[in-house]
Order: sequence, then C-alpha cells, then structure tokens
Amino acid sequence: MTAIDWAAKARALAVRFAERAEGHDRDGSFPFENFADLRGAGFMRLTVPRAHGGEEAPIATYLAVQEALARGDGSTALAFMMHTKLFGQQRDGPSYPREWFAEFCRGAVENGWMANTIATEEGLGSPSGGGLPDTVARAIEGGWVIDGRKTFATLAPALRFFIVLARIDGANGEPPDLAYFVVYPDDPGARVVETWDALGMRATGSHDFVLEGCRLPAERLLTRRGLREPDPKAEAGTAWFALGLAATVIGVAAAAREYAVAFAKERTPNSGRTIAGYAGVRERIARIDLLLQRSRAEVADAARAWEARDAIAAGEMGALERIAVAKVDTLNSCIEAVDLAMRVVGGVSLRKSRPMERYYRDVRAPLHNPPLEDRALEWLAKAALGS
Ligand SMILES: Cc1cc2nc3c(=O)[nH]c(=O)nc-3n(C[C@H](O)[C@H](O)[C@H](O)COP(=O)(O)OP(=O)(O)OC[C@H]3O[C@@H](n4cnc5c(N)ncnc54)[C@H](O)[C@@H]3O)c2cc1C
Repeated sequence: MTAIDWAAKARALAVRFAERAEGHDRDGSFPFENFADLRGAGFMRLTVPRAHGGEEAPIATYLAVQEALARGDGSTALAFMMHTKLFGQQRDGPSYPREWFAEFCRGAVENGWMANTIATEEGLGSPSGGGLPDTVARAIEGGWVIDGRKTFATLAPALRFFIVLARIDGANGEPPDLAYFVVYPDDPGARVVETWDALGMRATGSHDFVLEGCRLPAERLLTRRGLREPDPKAEAGTAWFALGLAATVIGVAAAAREYAVAFAKERTPNSGRTIAGYAGVRERIARIDLLLQRSRAEVADAARAWEARDAIAAGEMGALERIAVAKVDTLNSCIEAVDLAMRVVGGVSLRKSRPMERYYRDVRAPLHNPPLEDRALEWLAKAALGS
C-alpha cells in the first residue's frame, strides 16, 4: 500500500481554505465547509491509533499538516488541531478509560466526529495557572449534575465531544477533586453561546459553553484526580499542543512571507523598477527566511527530542525544555516575520482587501495558548537552576 502524503493533501485543501478565509474572518463565522473537506479527505482519523482504525500519523506528519493548513487559514488549522492533538496526547500519555478512548476514536474514524478539551473559564483563566474551576459537578442518583460556564470552547459549533473540566467538592471540608466529563451538545442543560468575537483566529468558533443543571449519566465521568495529584497526560498534552501551535504560526508566517515575496517581485512604483531591488526590502525578506528556518528547526528538534525523550542523556536539554524553547521562540519569531512582511508590502498591507492584516492578527493569538511564555520560561529557569 502506498503511504498517503498527508502534508500534500493538506496543501491542496489549504488552497480552498485561503479563498474562504477572508469571508469567515470578516464575519467571525465558523468554516463548516473547510471541516467538511477535512472530513471528506479522511483527516479526522489522522492521529487516531491504527488499532482503532486511524492513521497513527507521527508527530512530524501532524506538524507538517498543521503548517500546510495554516498557510491557507490559521483559524481552521488551530481549531482542527484541538481535535487531532487529543489522539496524539493519548497515544503518548494515556489517561482516558479505554472504552471512552475507543469511543472518541470510533467517532472520528466512522463519523468524522470531533472532540476538544473545554477547560478555560472567565474567573479561572488558564487552568495551567493551578486555579480551581467554578464549574461544579454534584453527584446525584445515577449520575451527575453540572453547572458552570466555559470560555474559549474552540470548535464549539462542530464538536460532538465536549470534554469539560469541573470540580467535585469534597465532603466535610476535604479539598475538591478535578474531573473531566464528556458532554454532548444536545445534552439537556448544555448550550453553546456565540460569544467569540476576537481580534485574531476569528473563525475558530471559540464560543462559551454553558451548563445549567446539566444532568449526565454516571459513565460520562471521564477522569477524576485529587487536586494535588499530577495530571497523567500533562507532558504528552504539552508536547502535542505546544508544537502544534508552533507549526500553526509557522504556517501563518509562511503565508505572509509568500505574499510579501510575490508582492516585492511585482510592485513597481513610478521609479520603473520593482521594489525587490531595494536593499531594505531584500534584507527584510532575508530576515523573514532566517526567522522561519530557525522556527522550523526548533520545532523539528523538539519533536525529535519528544520522541526520544527516554534516551536523552543527563546534562542535555530535556524534551519538555526544548518544547518550551520552540513554543516561545517560534511564536515571537513568527510575529516578527509577519511584521517584516507587512513592512515589505507597505501601507497597503493594512487594507482589509489584502490578507496581511489577518496574518498580523492571527499569528499573535496563540501567545495566549499554553504553555504561556512566563510559564515556559520558568521551566527553563528551573531546569537550569535546579529549583
Ligand atoms: C484562540 C484561542 C483558542 C483557545 N481554545 C481553547 C480551548 O479550546 N479550550 C480551552 O480550555 N481553552 C482554550 N483557550 C484558552 C487558553 O488556553 C487560555 O486558558 C486562555 O487564553 C486564558 O489565558 P489567560 O492568559 O487569559 O489567563 P490567565 O490565567 O488569567 O493569565 C493572565 C496573565 O497572568 C499570567 N499568569 C496567570 N497565572 C499565572 C501563574 N500562576 N504564574 C505566572 N503567571 C501567571 C499569565 O501568564 C497571563 O499573562 C483558547 C485561547 C485562545 C486565544
């Protein structure tokens, strides 16, 4: 059997996504047709294990797909990643019960259903800060009742599985537990409230998900752990998520680079020569390529280190630290690369009729996805200083 070239398939789809991106960005609408294309081309099973009928794409393929999709539309790539990363994370750091993981896989392979973790809340902010969710689950006869409001629920218009973080209060003053529940969009008391109207990544459908007296059968409790117990999927989740984000912003910056290079070759102001001959333009384009190459190298290095994590010798930088480097540096490099591309294109880069200002907005949004810069830098400091 010939191996499928998933990156090439993604590049082909991204051409269509690029044509639709401006409209969805302007309206803040969800690109259902892009997800229908992804589903039709088999992408929903990309990272699902082979044992469950999936493609079990290695992390390098997943990253190549992310970059390719983001060249067409950053929003579609970021939203799609929320689904694909889940299977990679579970392959490398299983934490879900086997039956539930099998169900997520079956849904993705047979029906093209998507899943995402819905953890953030207005009061809590990023759960990685260690705070407690206000969303609370109470045990009732035969199940649970959940109340709360989640924010940033990416893919909300198209999700089958909302994997919702809630707290379960302890009896007699015991500390609460943290739990994830599987919620379906049509569960009574559950609803999506369309609040997502943001600066960047406007077509990700990252709306609020409200749970009001949402009654769930007992088996919807996915995982439960004590407040001080470590999350068994934390490292694998960080690897697939942070590197996927980095690949996504590389795709957005690469699209800006392509636009700027094509523009520089064609743009001929009154002087009669193209701007590609000007030293300032040439230097900016060279610096964009430097930033992009550095980003790709850091992401590839971190992905290799993640795959070889158990074999990394003492004294060498560990996989998680390399992932922190890749996330922080790639985000900053790609923001700078898009800024440089806008300077190449000049004043018209500000116009809504051109894609540059969308790249400018989209490339910065993942700054606010974990690991956030302060925390990633703290990992590096801790590794260096030993405390
Ligand atoms: C496009 C997009 C899509 C998203 N999709 C999802 C999704 O699908 N599911 C989901 O659950 N979430 C999602 N999120 C939310 C994201 O993961 C963060 O939880 C969210 O952005 C809140 O982060 P914050 O920086 O505002 O939070 P806060 O935690 O309020 O942080 C605010 C600031 O304080 C700093 N800070 C906070 N706590 C600490 C600490 N302990 N130590 C040091 N510094 C600290 C932070 O670094 C930051 O600078 C998405 C976010 C974006 C932008």
